[in-house]
Amino acid sequence: MLSEKMYELGSRRSVIREIFEYAKKRSAEIGPENVFDFSLGNPNVPAPAKVEETIRGLLDTCDPVVLHGYTSAQGDFGVRDTIAKSINRRFGTRLTADSLYMTVGAAASLSICCRALTVPGDEFITFAPFFTEYRVFVEAAGADLVVIPVREKDFQIDLDEFEARIQEHTKGIIINSPNNPSGVVYSEDTIQAVCGILSRKEKEYGHPIYLIADEPYREIVYDGIKVPYLMNYYKNTLVCYSYSKALSLPGERIGYIAVSPDMEEERRVYAAVCGAGRALGYVCAPSLFQRVAAACVEETSDLSVYQRNRDLLYASLTEYGYECIRPDGAFYLFVKALEPDANAFYERAKKYELLLVPGDDFGCPGYVRIAYCVKTEQIINALPAFQKLAQEYGKNI
Ligand code: PLP
Repeated sequence: MLSEKMYELGSRRSVIREIFEYAKKRSAEIGPENVFDFSLGNPNVPAPAKVEETIRGLLDTCDPVVLHGYTSAQGDFGVRDTIAKSINRRFGTRLTADSLYMTVGAAASLSICCRALTVPGDEFITFAPFFTEYRVFVEAAGADLVVIPVREKDFQIDLDEFEARIQEHTKGIIINSPNNPSGVVYSEDTIQAVCGILSRKEKEYGHPIYLIADEPYREIVYDGIKVPYLMNYYKNTLVCYSYSKALSLPGERIGYIAVSPDMEEERRVYAAVCGAGRALGYVCAPSLFQRVAAACVEETSDLSVYQRNRDLLYASLTEYGYECIRPDGAFYLFVKALEPDANAFYERAKKYELLLVPGDDFGCPGYVRIAYCVKTEQIINALPAFQKLAQEYGKNI
């Protein structure tokens, strides 16, 4: 006997991975330049030069036994101290090294938070469209995921629906801004309203309701838009951050959890985070890349490429007759499929070698996601295919 749940997770790849694998196979058949793979959020902009310089410097100057050795379970003290001070400088918080727990990226941060907080019968709420893996992390921790349907007019949060779904066993909410897959940044008004509702409901039920802020795209924003730092709005906040996206280090697996110093029973929550990391067998985050993260704490890769890609893709697709929300951040465009079934639309797009991701698993049927963290050249080359596809549906002829 084995765990059917784990068997199912392991044998059925996520839709995104499935399409990514298809793209590799198709590229081998017809050449990568003829396949327009927009499936995966894998940054195509290299990490800044400082990352490589730091790695070389660390290899040259550090005692290898220390550099490649275990760090404290929560991460090297100096690394956490540097990152805490940087967050305080940028967002006016008062974190210390002991507010931070280093992780192997945001996926681990989220899994650890869910595991640290869940008791049987708990629910977490999230907002469509949402990162598909939330369901995996929440359910693996033994809780249920409740999804608030999208408010299609602006992709902000349906506050009435949200308030109505909070109940006695709501342990927390997971909020992701800039959002994968919509690219929307939740406005300060939305955030204030969400936090107001949470505070009222905490009082009503007499226990904390945690806000998990999933922020791997925090720095990837356009036209100078500001992303509210959620622990400044709500005390029971845990921030899950990752260096995968803005620093282009997704394969190196490095990120952190920041526990708000103002949280109720903050030391107990932090200890539970450490306990969940231990129970999940993480031991410690990669030692070398903890130090790289600290040395490059306020660096990003060249994010102007994403702005260029967004501008080009949004302007062209809307001109061809597609409808989509204009993203203010992340590197995804969420486009209304040109027929009700996004999976059928995905199949039609595939005939033009356009690989998009149907929105169903993001909790938003009828849409497709385009990951534009690709070379601008790929977008330029794909535009005629997008145009022909639109024409097939009678658009803009
Ligand atoms: N959260 C969101 C919204 C994401 O889009 C991703 C990755 O695509 C993650 C979390 C996981 O990121 P990481 O590579 O840091 O584990």
